[in-house]
Amino acid sequence: MDDRHFRQAMGKFATGVTVITTEVEGEVHGMTANAFMSVSLDPNLVVISIGERAQMLEKIKSSKKFAVNILSGEQKEYSMLFAGQIKEKREIDFDNLAGLPVLAGAIAQVACEVVNEHIEGDHTLFIGKVLDIKLEEGEPLMFFNGQYRSLSSEVSLTNK
Ligand code: FAD
Repeated sequence: MDDRHFRQAMGKFATGVTVITTEVEGEVHGMTANAFMSVSLDPNLVVISIGERAQMLEKIKSSKKFAVNILSGEQKEYSMLFAGQIKEKREIDFDNLAGLPVLAGAIAQVACEVVNEHIEGDHTLFIGKVLDIKLEEGEPLMFFNGQYRSLSSEVSLTNK
């Protein structure tokens, strides 16, 4: 089985889009990720999966904390910026939740401390225990078949 086929199959799973944020020695680092899910209700645990080549890997290993910012439909530019798809540097003002940098306007901000990590293939899974959550109204940014989508356009399509 070739990698392209595997990627295509995984791209059939529609997801939201998050930006993972953390801070090391006063410097904030963000990275776009859609490999995110909830793991446990008691205690509240989530998991993220970070590629071995991502700068974010060493940052989280060092800070032992991360925040998951679930992007709104208006925040596609943040997704592109933190995935390195926008090349020029941008100055971002981060808010703070439980001592972690978070993105204003995200529909959910979830601050976590790392309680476990597992290396699997070329990714590391970080299990995060939730420290605090902030929610905002709004529709999510979505990702399907390698493209950004909006929930409202999908809904209006089905209503035609
Ligand atoms: P870099 O490539 O160095 O940084 C990423 C970008 O963010 C750079 O442009 C940088 O300038 C900018 N940036 C970082 N911090 C700041 C800051 N404080 N202020 C302003 N700009 C900043 N990869 C995974 O490992 N796991 C996933 O689940 C995953 N899901 C993805 C989902 C989508 C929809 C997309 C588009 C990409 C996904 N990726 C995922 C790929 C990942 O986002 C990119 O490979 C990313 O470039 C890796 O980031 P990095 O940590 O290596 O840092």
